[in-house]
Amino acid sequence: MKGFEYLQDELDQMEQDGVYRSLVPLETDQGATVTINAKKVIQLSSNNYLGLTTHPRLKLAAVRAADQYGAGTGSVRTIAGTFTMHEQFEQELAKFKHTEAALVFQSGFTANQAVLASLLTKEDVVISDELNHASIIDGIRLTKAARKIYKHVDMNSLEEALIESKDYRKKLVVTDGVFSMDGNIAPLPEIVALCEKYDALIMVDDAHASGVLGENGRGTVNHFNLDDRVHIQVGTLSKAVGVLGGYVASTRAVREYLIHKGRPFLFSTSHPPTVTAACQEAIQVLLDEPERIERLWFNANYLKRGLEKLGFDTGISETPITPVIVGDEKKAHEFSDKLLQYGVFAQGIAFPTVKKGQARVRTIVTSEHTIDLLDQALEAFEKAGKELKIIK
Ligand SMILES: *Cc1c(COP(=O)(O)O)cnc(C)c1O
Repeated sequence: MKGFEYLQDELDQMEQDGVYRSLVPLETDQGATVTINAKKVIQLSSNNYLGLTTHPRLKLAAVRAADQYGAGTGSVRTIAGTFTMHEQFEQELAKFKHTEAALVFQSGFTANQAVLASLLTKEDVVISDELNHASIIDGIRLTKAARKIYKHVDMNSLEEALIESKDYRKKLVVTDGVFSMDGNIAPLPEIVALCEKYDALIMVDDAHASGVLGENGRGTVNHFNLDDRVHIQVGTLSKAVGVLGGYVASTRAVREYLIHKGRPFLFSTSHPPTVTAACQEAIQVLLDEPERIERLWFNANYLKRGLEKLGFDTGISETPITPVIVGDEKKAHEFSDKLLQYGVFAQGIAFPTVKKGQARVRTIVTSEHTIDLLDQALEAFEKAGKELKIIK
């Protein structure tokens, strides 16, 4: 069919520049090792921090829910697609997060869209960290509020933006809790102090901290003991929680308002029973098996220290997200390809996901990796790194 030659031209150019990527289908479930092209490799690219995607309790909960309640819900939440389990789960989630209320969305992405597009008007301003996740950036594109960007985790830059914003009705400061490409933690105590000084609302997107930081994985807000001082927490059920979905944990008024105005909630069908039941079980597992989080952090430190000892640049990571910064885009992808050849699946990440010249291979360990697997992974990194002259 004619008409899309211009797209093909751009794709061809990407291939020439070495930045064209194919999808990598897994032939097994999402474990510490996976099979790709009939070859067993060590998985270092998933967000399955705690191994919950394959936890027997989650699988059983999903099977039972499908059996009893079916494969789908047949409606959006606001018409006929709210089941008792949806509301029950939201109450459990609010209790877990120590907030008044919670509301679940189809994904973390849509949760951000719902909040940012609906809570602010043209009399308001949203103030955002420059390295916030794409779903926050897109959410901000949908708001009628004014927008300001502050330099990454730079408190002087945030304070300037707050001072410039004093004439707006409402100011909302939004930040990732853990930044997904560098693995650093937002300085929430300082952000909260500034927001309180200038009377701003705070929203934290805790996608990479849900299940990872805080007591039983309650997130960065809990990690810093700021439970009553952050207005909106967005979390994901798709990463450490192991299933799919996003949520907003906040006040009853915010929940009620989003039920009326959050467009993904109003205009897109609710989670199937399997998803909700598995998420419910996952929160129980977080409470019952805190040792998973301990193992995750042990493994994260082990891999990070190993990579640093080999001479790799792991940037400013403080969490299980450990980037190996290479710089050149093409080289990052070559590095990733070589690692796969040596039995490690660690994806290359380049512009526009990270800044130009900051290309990297990003690793995320899980609680399910054994020391033996991590040692094998480090050997592969050493071999591939030396061959590409990334390390000496
Ligand atoms: C992954 C991620 C999201 C999106 O979550 P999904 O549930 O996968 O849609 C939102 N925000 C941040 C910071 C993320 O890392």
